Amino acid sequence: MSHIIPPGSTLGILGSGQLGRMFTRAARRMGYRVHVFSPEHDSPTGQVADAEVVAAYDDLDAVRAFARGVSVVTFEFENVPAPTAAACAECAPVRPAGSILHLTQNRLREKTFLANAGLPVAPFHPAHSLADLTEGLQRLGLPAVLKTAAFGYDGKGQLLITNYNEAEAAIKSLNHSDGLLETFIDFDREASVVAARGLDGSFAHYGVIENLHRHHILDVSLAPALIPPRLAAEAVDMARCVLEKLDVVGVLCVEFFLTRDGQCLINELAPRPHNSGHLTIEACVTSQFEQQVRAVCGLPLGSTEYLRAAAMANLLGDLWSDGEPDWAAACALPDVKLHLYGKREPRPGRKMGHLTALGATVEDAQQKVLTARAG
Ligand code: AMP
Repeated sequence: MSHIIPPGSTLGILGSGQLGRMFTRAARRMGYRVHVFSPEHDSPTGQVADAEVVAAYDDLDAVRAFARGVSVVTFEFENVPAPTAAACAECAPVRPAGSILHLTQNRLREKTFLANAGLPVAPFHPAHSLADLTEGLQRLGLPAVLKTAAFGYDGKGQLLITNYNEAEAAIKSLNHSDGLLETFIDFDREASVVAARGLDGSFAHYGVIENLHRHHILDVSLAPALIPPRLAAEAVDMARCVLEKLDVVGVLCVEFFLTRDGQCLINELAPRPHNSGHLTIEACVTSQFEQQVRAVCGLPLGSTEYLRAAAMANLLGDLWSDGEPDWAAACALPDVKLHLYGKREPRPGRKMGHLTALGATVEDAQQKVLTARAG
């Protein structure tokens, strides 16, 4: 099977944060070498990679030189500019394809794709001007959420509109960037499905993971999610549909709202391993990062079986407000694992690391991980 990229080859990754770091760890364990393209020195990925190429994403000569030195290019940073992915593709396969990155970099493109594919999303309306927004508010009603179409994540660039008088100020807050208005969903829970698709079209998924957010940032993930099996099967089917329609080779996460009346709506897509899937490192036979390695190298996908129930709690920079947290206390429970990403500056809201706890039940794992984080 000549299309396989065998262990011993060099893999390239665009983006150098914690996702790249955990991808690199999985790849190196399997005997691959990893080169990372990073906008900064001593990055979380660069610290564990074989080589860290430091250059800007728009330095296309540097991008091509990087891609020529690897057997395949993947990414962990979603906002890699389209010309950068295209320059890579001149020199090496890019998996998932740059076209998928392009689609998911813009909420309006992404939502339009999902709606055209017949997948359920919150009702939405383009809102590039006050006239669009007024029309959107009339069509969707209140409350509604105005989001920037591009480069939004973790709730950045979002505004809740509860009164028609707020429209003018809301559109100003977009600062001339394109916007998207969405019906506010009074959801029961948030969840995600992390899934992988191989070069041969094979599909694997980690079931539904429940996600608890704080200030729009993921705080805790629980797996398997305690939801009715019918809902879980629906969410997995939708994820399968997305990966197939986009012809994904790699890992992609679908984020969902589970509504109070038992519906599953897709909120957004991330064409890479996802924060909610970090618990697969300890909980599953094959982690989401190993799965990304396998998929982009054309290897068979691994088993996604859960060995134990699991809970993950993020460690944000806020935890450092009184100095370095007490890691001995965090490690005191034997079923809790500490991950730190090698970031020097603990800014509020910055993802510095995470804890994963395994348990006999999800509730047990959740209690352990929260106890460990409380120190
Ligand atoms: P996003 O940046 O789209 O992932 O949104 C971040 C978080 O904002 C989500 O995880 C939700 O908690 C919340 N959110 C986003 N869109 C909506 C919506 N239409 N209705 C209610 N909450 C939302």
